[in-house]
Amino acid sequence: MLLKLKTTVITYDYIILGAGASGLLLAYRMSQDPFFDDKSVLIIDQSKDKGNDRTWCYWEEGVGEWDALLTKIWPNVFFGSQSLSKTISIAPFQYKMIRSEAFYMSLWKGINSKSNFSFIEAVVDSFTELKTGVEVVTETDTYLGSKLFNSLPNPEAYNSQHKYPLIHQHFVGWFVKTKTNVFDDAVATFMDFSVPQNGHTRFMYVLPIDKKTALFEYTLFSKDLLKYADYEDAIKSYLDSKNILDYEIIEKEQGNIPMTSFKFSDLNSKHILHIGTAGGWTKASTGYTFMNTSKKTKEVVAFLKEDDDLSTFDKRTKYRFYDLIFLDVLANHNNEGAALFSSMFKKASIKTIFRFLDEDSTILEDLKIILSVPPKRFIQAFFKRLF
Ligand SMILES: Cc1cc2nc3c(=O)[nH]c(=O)nc-3n(C[C@H](O)[C@H](O)[C@H](O)COP(=O)(O)OP(=O)(O)OC[C@H]3O[C@@H](n4cnc5c(N)ncnc54)[C@H](O)[C@@H]3O)c2cc1C
Repeated sequence: MLLKLKTTVITYDYIILGAGASGLLLAYRMSQDPFFDDKSVLIIDQSKDKGNDRTWCYWEEGVGEWDALLTKIWPNVFFGSQSLSKTISIAPFQYKMIRSEAFYMSLWKGINSKSNFSFIEAVVDSFTELKTGVEVVTETDTYLGSKLFNSLPNPEAYNSQHKYPLIHQHFVGWFVKTKTNVFDDAVATFMDFSVPQNGHTRFMYVLPIDKKTALFEYTLFSKDLLKYADYEDAIKSYLDSKNILDYEIIEKEQGNIPMTSFKFSDLNSKHILHIGTAGGWTKASTGYTFMNTSKKTKEVVAFLKEDDDLSTFDKRTKYRFYDLIFLDVLANHNNEGAALFSSMFKKASIKTIFRFLDEDSTILEDLKIILSVPPKRFIQAFFKRLF
């Protein structure tokens, strides 16, 4: 039998597990702040070069921190369903697209400029809270740290509980290129529910990068995943229905983002903070994570200068309860998603929707959103949670 010997190496002030969006962004923010100049930071990920593994989109008012890296900006979005079909100007917001390779490269450039940051490419086996810090075990080594930030996926935490609803935002996307000008690249299709719903919440998400190139993502908010071929068949049918027949598929992407109100903050402890999707930074009702990660990493950096106990980082807000009710409705009446979103987009302004989803809304704006959705299911879900 082959025995692997594990050796203990140096202790770090901070260990960051995962060099994806949240881990890398946290490391980058620390590297740009002189407070961390005398701290040792170790980043561990199983793979460093991930290329364009993600296409992130987010809305933002005016100029933003990542604007220099953007692939595309849209001033308008389209919402479509059986009962509503409208193109909406989203000013003062803009819908922005950033591709992950440009983002990762830019952050690495900042991190690599600091000699107190190191990276190790390794698969993490486990991590444990100790009395005075943490221990991380990889296939070959053990690392000690004072504080740990974990962004490694932790599906066992939310899959094994039944208290909070869990659905998935799952999708497959095709970047297609046409020979002639076909796309209106001033409009991003946010949600097009004109696709057959088959008892679920299914929509097409279309991001035209120029008049000949667009990303088509067939997306579901539902409990169970489909066979890979089903997503691709749906994209093909959608393209056919739009009479887009002469195209080349230049790239593909797929994803599965958990949508859950599970209390990720319960996993945190004095020395361990879960970040990114693993820390509940994914908005439970939408799957959007990128902008929240950008905000939260700033908050973590500020927190580290004042506080020592990472279990006190997360604060409860009203939005957790809103998301919980919303997900209860979507999980229990999955075939009603199209009607629910249509009603919201019909009755509430896009600015109010964005502010509400950004968790920046006033009580009046909250009320506008609450009154914009069909009341029956929400009242049922509300009282069920209350009692
Ligand atoms: C295809 C796709 C498109 C998305 N589009 C959007 C969007 O448009 N807008 C938006 O807001 N959100 C979007 N999201 C959701 C979210 O923004 C991303 O998932 C984001 O990358 C989450 O960041 P993270 O740091 O939590 O996880 P990740 O970026 O996935 O980072 C986790 C890291 O952990 C590493 N890792 C995992 N296991 C181990 C292990 N055992 N040992 C060592 N390393 C390990 C991985 O290699 C990875 O680098 C999208 C997600 C996907 C998958």
